[in-house]
Amino acid sequence: MIHEIIIVGGGFGGARVAKLLAEEPNFHITLVDKSRYHTFYPNLYEVATAYLPEAFGHLPIDFVDLKSSAIYPLEDIFLDDINVSVLEDEFLGADFKKHFVNLRKTGKLRYDFLALAMGSETNYFGIPGMAEKALPLKNFFDALGLRNAIDELFFRAPKNQLIKIVIGGGGFTGCELAGELMGYMDKLSRIHGRPRYYAECLIVEAAETLLGSASPWVQKKAKARLEKLDVKFMFKSAIKEIRQNEIILGVGSKVPYDLLIWTAGVKASESVKTLESVKLEKASCVPVDKNLRIAPHENVFGVGDITYSVDEATGKSLPMTASVALREAKCVAENIKRMAAKKPLLYYRASHPGFIIPLGGRYALLELYGVRLSGLLPWLLKEFIALKYWAGLLGWRRAFGLWKKGLEIHSWND
Ligand SMILES: Cc1cc2nc3c(=O)[nH]c(=O)nc-3n(C[C@H](O)[C@H](O)[C@H](O)COP(=O)(O)OP(=O)(O)OC[C@H]3O[C@@H](n4cnc5c(N)ncnc54)[C@H](O)[C@@H]3O)c2cc1C
Repeated sequence: MIHEIIIVGGGFGGARVAKLLAEEPNFHITLVDKSRYHTFYPNLYEVATAYLPEAFGHLPIDFVDLKSSAIYPLEDIFLDDINVSVLEDEFLGADFKKHFVNLRKTGKLRYDFLALAMGSETNYFGIPGMAEKALPLKNFFDALGLRNAIDELFFRAPKNQLIKIVIGGGGFTGCELAGELMGYMDKLSRIHGRPRYYAECLIVEAAETLLGSASPWVQKKAKARLEKLDVKFMFKSAIKEIRQNEIILGVGSKVPYDLLIWTAGVKASESVKTLESVKLEKASCVPVDKNLRIAPHENVFGVGDITYSVDEATGKSLPMTASVALREAKCVAENIKRMAAKKPLLYYRASHPGFIIPLGGRYALLELYGVRLSGLLPWLLKEFIALKYWAGLLGWRRAFGLWKKGLEIHSWND
């Protein structure tokens, strides 16, 4: 008997579930994504701050290189997996009782097992003016738009006038972006003949520290690193409203800006709101049980950023990270195999090995399995993890080509 598996979302979680199930001969897997591409988010910073030397007469323009360093066609990822079909279509909802999903182009598609992995999107928290005036960094096109907006700002602003780029949010995305941005601003200042001190990057953060969820060691080191790069900070500064070139803070003061980037909020993909009979939790996430099923539907699983799953050890919900999505994907793939074989299911066990956060140039902070490091070594390790990630999807040969492109773009940026 062939089991029909539908996976919605070909990101970190969904693509991994599909890869892990692809080796099962009695499964047919349909991977549905509204986009043709799989996005490698950690490389979006490189795209957002890509210095393209060709623009100044050195090399021919190569946006294709830029694109292929961060996104990869899903069909190519599953080229050799004959039991995986990739469908470019948008998920509009599901009938959990009759076991079918509703897709914009295809219509109804029946499943035996369903895995939902539609990821997350920017959350503007209803702050007046934010969605209209701030730039997000949540996909490849956001990153490209951001890069071009900064380039254009340096091109247009009078050379003797301060350019002020403000990042809303001092979390992981805000800090990583600020680190990369400083190098980009150095180059743009040189190219456009502007004194470097006429361009500033400011992080506006509601809390008292950067990286609220990290340890005090990481918070201190990250602040010191960004200070060294000349990033400015404002803490305890919740944003209340955005006006034209002016941020209104909760305390009543105003902060001028030329370009505002919003990195402080994420919520589950809007598409989860179509799920009937599912009561959404914090950040519109879908609650899952210990087997990562969307109760009470026994053959429906949730993976990655869309899920609300509480870690029993800490009592907190799991963060929206690639590492959580990949670990959940492994558990979901195993549980689908077990359900098909009528075996007892696995419990998902959260673990927190730690993380690496790059902060501009070839510098990163690492806090992993109790080990703490800063500087070049963690940055190299992060690069190796990226290579290993791609190898898991494409095999080592193709992964190496793609990884090299990311490195090339990084070295243009250096
Ligand atoms: C700039 C940036 C940098 C990051 N860096 C890191 C990092 O260094 N380390 C880390 O651990 N995490 C990082 N993250 C977080 C990480 O990328 C996410 O947690 C991870 O991608 C979640 O995986 P996912 O499968 O749930 O969602 P995604 O990987 O986002 O995949 C969701 C997929 O679903 C598709 N989709 C959405 N809605 C629909 C629909 N209605 N129909 C069909 N398809 C749909 C989307 O097109 C997408 O392909 C970063 C995030 C960003 C934005």
